Amino acid sequence: MTRPLLNRRLHGLGTSIFAEMSARAVATGAVNLGQGFPDVDGPPSVAQAAATAIMTGHGNQYPPGPGIPELRAAVADHQRRFYGLAYDPGTEVLITAGATEAIAAALLALLEPGDEVIAFEPYYDSYVANIAMAGATRVPLTLRPPAFRPDLAELESLITARTRLMLINSPHNPTGMVLTRAETEAIADIAKRHDLLVVTDEVYEHLTYDREHIPFATVDGMRERTVSVSSAGKTFSFTGWKVGWVTGTPEIVNAVRTTKQFLTFVASGPFQYAVAEALRLPDEYFATLASDLKTKRDLMAQGLSDIGFEVYQPDGTYFITTDIARLGEKDAVEFCLGLPERAGVVAIPNAVFYDDKEAGRTQVRFAFCKRQEILEEALSRLEVLAY
Ligand code: PMP
Ligand code: GLN
Repeated sequence: MTRPLLNRRLHGLGTSIFAEMSARAVATGAVNLGQGFPDVDGPPSVAQAAATAIMTGHGNQYPPGPGIPELRAAVADHQRRFYGLAYDPGTEVLITAGATEAIAAALLALLEPGDEVIAFEPYYDSYVANIAMAGATRVPLTLRPPAFRPDLAELESLITARTRLMLINSPHNPTGMVLTRAETEAIADIAKRHDLLVVTDEVYEHLTYDREHIPFATVDGMRERTVSVSSAGKTFSFTGWKVGWVTGTPEIVNAVRTTKQFLTFVASGPFQYAVAEALRLPDEYFATLASDLKTKRDLMAQGLSDIGFEVYQPDGTYFITTDIARLGEKDAVEFCLGLPERAGVVAIPNAVFYDDKEAGRTQVRFAFCKRQEILEEALSRLEVLAY
């Protein structure tokens, strides 16, 4: 067979770096600060709700296509409670298999081959794959250290007649950058002036440190052109449940549902009941989640900096990006491949999230959604790098 097996749009997409590095952590017994998942599960009451749903026969058979009504109502209530956004749970909320499916379904629904998509670089890896699957072209707006703020004049200069949408992620993985209100409004203004859609990945909406998360849909005139995506994974520390959602106008939700129903059709039946309860947890739950993670961010920022990493303090997410040049290192991929043997720690090379490999050459990301003693253990292991 002369023709390569893999569809040519997907050439170059190897194994997910997250899966690869987690497998390495398991194989070497290293502390896994690579793939972002907490080492403590979410609230027991929420876990119990999932167990009860299974045992009482809720969601064990195909749930309704758009998601169970209880969860759609809970998502709508969450949007109103935290952001003052009103969505009709009947027509403006769609439950998906995690944010991953929501983003894939949105891009496959909205893009035509040849369309251009502007997205922040470093990109979350599935964006690159989904844009390619749709036959569209990614156009990077590179975020640069130390603050990783988007250059809005540059953003506008990237727009062409083929630009269809901006795919925006804030709080941003991997850099931890959180858009300010002024930046959000300025990007919204560009979207309106150029008649672009915004697909906004807000999975880290509740993980911000002394910063307010500003959903795009709250900006004047944006509700009708914004596809808002979030999920339960990060907010409730159940990343394996894969419950996500899209909110938007009935037209937007309809379009996304059209593709979504032919990807998974439906998913996570019993977990949908549990997430409906989780979304109604008291404000204190959300505040404690962020304040606990803020303590861990500070621990990691100080510890990594003491070892000799250059640390870019994140305002959101549970990731901290560092630069290893000061440690005398030249290549993050090589560094991360050797780190389990060298120090017993797994981290992620941000270089893999850049088209411009030079831009991310020496950036390394550590996840800090782990117990304090695990973070301390990782820091003490990393001290070998200081010598
Ligand atoms: N977007 C970003 C920026 C993420 O970091 C993740 C994390 N996994 C996802 C989407 C996917 O979320 P989910 O696990 O709900 O599919
Ligand atoms: N979002 C997680 C991260 O950035 C990984 C999820 C995945 O493995 N696809 O680490």
